[in-house]
Amino acid sequence: MTLEVKFTKLFINGDFVDAISEKTFETRDPRTGDVIGRVAEGDKEDVDLAVKAARKAFDHGKWPRMSGYERGRIMMKYADLIDQQKEELAKLECLDAGKLLALTKVVDIEGSADMLRYYAGAADKIHGETLKMAGNLHGYTLREPIGVVGHIIPWNFPSLMFFSKVSPALAAGCTMIVKPAEQTPLTALYHAFLAKEAGIPDGVINVVTGFGSTAGASIASHMDIDMVSFTGSTAVGRKIMETAAKSNLKPVSLELGGKSPIIIFDDADIDMAVDLARTATFYNKGEACIAGSRVYVQEGIYDKFVTKVTESMKSWVVGDPFDPHVHQGPQVDKAQFEKVLSYIEHGKREGATLVTGGKPCGEKGYYIEPAIFTDVEEDMLIAKDEIFGPVMSLMKFKTIEEAIEKANNTKYGLAAGVVTKDLNIANRMSRSIRAGIIWINCYLIIDRGCPFGGFKMSGFGKDSGMHALEKYLQVKSVITPIFDSPW
Ligand code: ADP
Repeated sequence: MTLEVKFTKLFINGDFVDAISEKTFETRDPRTGDVIGRVAEGDKEDVDLAVKAARKAFDHGKWPRMSGYERGRIMMKYADLIDQQKEELAKLECLDAGKLLALTKVVDIEGSADMLRYYAGAADKIHGETLKMAGNLHGYTLREPIGVVGHIIPWNFPSLMFFSKVSPALAAGCTMIVKPAEQTPLTALYHAFLAKEAGIPDGVINVVTGFGSTAGASIASHMDIDMVSFTGSTAVGRKIMETAAKSNLKPVSLELGGKSPIIIFDDADIDMAVDLARTATFYNKGEACIAGSRVYVQEGIYDKFVTKVTESMKSWVVGDPFDPHVHQGPQVDKAQFEKVLSYIEHGKREGATLVTGGKPCGEKGYYIEPAIFTDVEEDMLIAKDEIFGPVMSLMKFKTIEEAIEKANNTKYGLAAGVVTKDLNIANRMSRSIRAGIIWINCYLIIDRGCPFGGFKMSGFGKDSGMHALEKYLQVKSVITPIFDSPW
C-alpha cells in the first residue's frame, strides 16, 4: 500500500507554510517502522503566528459574527468534503496510526463528518435567556464564543479527536489552533485543507504540527489563547493545567487516561460477555482511553469465562491493518510497543499468569499478540496503570458490594461496563461506579450526541453532546433599566 502524502506543512492563516526554523520531523508507518514522510516541526514562534491569525479572525473576522445558520451551512459543506475524501483520509489515518482500514472508514472518518453535522445543526440554536429582575430592571444573557481555543490532541483517534474538539468550537464561533500528536500529524493537515475548501475563513482553523514539550507547551502557556481543550495522558493533562494557571488562567478541559472495569455477573450471557470483554480490551490494539482492560468476573462463571475468552483468541488475527480479515494492527510506534511489552514482563514478574499472547509478532513493525492475564491482584501494576495496549487483566469477585468496591478502586473514572440480565444490579452498579460513562450489556459505544468525559483523574469537561458546546461559550449578562415600566 503506497499513498501520496500531500500535506506536510503547518497550516497558518489559510496557507501551508514551513516552520520558521525550517525544521521537520519524521512520521513512520507502524507496520514496518519505515518513514512515510517528513512534517514541519512547529515551535513557539509558529504557535505565536497561528495565535495572531486566530486572534485577528476572532476579533475582526467574519466567523464569530456571521449567523449560526451560515456557520452551520459551511460546516455541513465541510462534512460533505470529508465524506468525499473518505477513502484517502482513512488510508492516510491507517498508514500513520496502524488502525484497521475498514473500521476507520466508518468509525473515524464518517464519524468525523457526522460530528461536524451534529454541531452544524446546533450552531443556529445557541441563545441566551431573558431575566426578569427586581424593580425596573430588564436583563438578558448572551452566550458568546469563548475566543481563541487551543486544541491539543492524541494519536489514537486522530481524526475523531480533531473533530470532536473542532466541531463544537466552530459552531460556537471560536477560532482555533490545533496541535495533532507528533506520532500522527497527517490527517489533521488534510482536514485543514478541506476546511479552506469548504469556505471556513482564513485564521479560523490553524494546524501546528510538532512536539508536545515545544509546540504543545507553547499553546498551554500562551497569553493570548483563551481556552485549552486537551485529550491525552493524565501526566500531560496535569502539566497543561499548571501551565494554563501560571500563564493567563485560561480554562482547560481535560479528557485523560482511564483503567476502566467491566464487571460480568454470574447471570450474564457468557458468549456476549466474552465478546464484549475482548472488544473492550483489544479494540484499536488497546490504544483507547476507554479500553475496558480490568475484567472482573463473578466466581460462579469465572473458570468457564477464562476458558472461553482464551479459546476465543485463537480466531483473533493480528496483522496488516489494511487486510479486512485482520482484527488488530500494530501499536502506533516503537515507544508504545516497548512500553506495552515491558508491562507484560512486569505482570509476569509480579506473579500474574499469562494465559495467552503477550509476545511481539511479525517480522517487522510493532505487532503484539493480545495478552490475557489471570491471577491478577488489585495492587499489581497491570491492574492499576493505563497500559494503552492489548493487555487484559482478569479478576474474580463474589458479591455486588465487592464488585462496586473493586470497580472504584482506581484513580481513574472514565468508563465502565456491566454485563448482567438483572435490571436492579445494572441500575445499582450504574449509580455506584464513579465514571463518566457506564455501558450496560454493551461497551465502547460512543455517539456524537452523548456527553463523553471522565471523573476523578480521568479529567473534566465533556466532548460530544451539547455539553461540549457549552465549553466553547461563555455567558454574559446585560442589564438595563426600563424607565416608566408598568411592572
Ligand atoms: P500519550 O502519552 O498517549 O502519547 P500525551 O499525553 O503524551 O499522550 O500526548 C497527547 C498530546 O499532548 C500530543 O499532542 C502531545 O504532543 C501533547 N503533549 C505532550 N506533552 C505536552 C506538554 N508538556 N504540553 C502540551 N502538550 C503536550
